[in-house]
Amino acid sequence: MEYKAYNLKSFLKTPYADKMDKQDIENLKLAALVFPFKVNNYTLTLIDWNNYKDDPIFRLTFPNKAMLLPEHLEKLKNASDLKKAVYEIRMNLNPHPAGQLSNIPEINGKKLEGSQHKYKETILFFPKQGQTCHAYCSFCFRWPQFTGIDELKFQSKEVEILIDYIKAHPEITDILFTGGDPMIMSSRFLRAYIEPILKAKIPHLKNIRIGSKALAFWPYRFISDKDSEDLLNLFKEIVDAGYHLAFMAHFNHYRELEGEILEKAVKNIQSTGAIIRTQSPLLNHINASSEVWEKMWKRQVNLGMVPYYMFIARDTGAQHYFGVPLVKAWEIYKNAVNKVSGLARTVRGPSMSATPGKICVDGVSEINGKKVFVLRMLQAKNPELVDIPFFAEFDEKAMWIDDLKPAFSEKFIFE
Ligand SMILES: *Cc1c(COP(=O)(O)O)cnc(C)c1O
Ligand code: SF4
Repeated sequence: MEYKAYNLKSFLKTPYADKMDKQDIENLKLAALVFPFKVNNYTLTLIDWNNYKDDPIFRLTFPNKAMLLPEHLEKLKNASDLKKAVYEIRMNLNPHPAGQLSNIPEINGKKLEGSQHKYKETILFFPKQGQTCHAYCSFCFRWPQFTGIDELKFQSKEVEILIDYIKAHPEITDILFTGGDPMIMSSRFLRAYIEPILKAKIPHLKNIRIGSKALAFWPYRFISDKDSEDLLNLFKEIVDAGYHLAFMAHFNHYRELEGEILEKAVKNIQSTGAIIRTQSPLLNHINASSEVWEKMWKRQVNLGMVPYYMFIARDTGAQHYFGVPLVKAWEIYKNAVNKVSGLARTVRGPSMSATPGKICVDGVSEINGKKVFVLRMLQAKNPELVDIPFFAEFDEKAMWIDDLKPAFSEKFIFE
């Protein structure tokens, strides 16, 4: 299949748009002013168009009016300057959650833009050409990144600084390429990042990770794109050079894991020696049921993937629409994890990626007659805090760590 992306205007000219009610099209137009919209010819085939209103893949890729708050709708309706109104609504939706703008590494007085070093072992790298995706998730609020800069010049300099930084930090074992989606890049661009890293032979760097939703949004990336073969060869070169290549695949629903194309893409990646691990946020209206997760994890394990993280929808974008209370998130997790074999219980969560670290809701318990959340940090800026249980007062409405109060102490352990 030849990749074909659609924005709102071009989507409305496809026969799929004819399947939609007039009212839903109007609502889509409104929501797409604020939320990024992009679909492609493959994602459109994943949707059951006869039942699109309730279809999880439709909800995943098509923003809708319910994602806007009443005050946002009001603002759009009354706007004299629509661009300004849209900008203000977006700013209001917290586009840089969890201190994403901090944790920018520095070496020899040079800032390493496009990267983040928050947890000791792992440096995050956002390659410039990878800051877009094959389609957009309606819950995603990385729009400040979706700008599409396309220059090889900057890049070589950046990689040099990156390598110097990793060399100077013997605690770094992992580099994680993320985005957007690094798999949007041609293999030529990806090579320009990876080859210098392999050549540098940094002894403490052991694992190369690539975070991507391309298996769900464009599996042909690993089958029949012009440079698919070169991409798979690059994966193989990484593995042959002695690294663990971890492909961190983003899936939100088992419906993304059906079909022969997906299976073929998974096999092709695995045949390079890469290991596919999976992660997803828990999203109301898309995957907020234990049956969905149970089915998804079983399918992933069956395909040889390793379930890795379940995230709680972060405090950004349309959290009122996608957010799930912490207690419900834990129930969904528990009721799914207790129905799968140990091979799928590698998954951890439900976890909040917050400023101090990744905070896991281990469950609800009663201690000395007091109902509490049992929490634990899976990752922390301060590694000493990892895996120490701590407590918060039970709150059935709480959706994020900011909504919680510490129990049995003045402060949370990370404060
Ligand atoms: C999740 C995350 C990582 C990777 O954490 P692991 O638990 O090792 O997968 C690295 N950096 C940041 C900023 C993260 O949020
Ligand atoms: S694939 Fe990731 S970065 Fe891209 S739109 Fe979805 S959540 Fe956002």
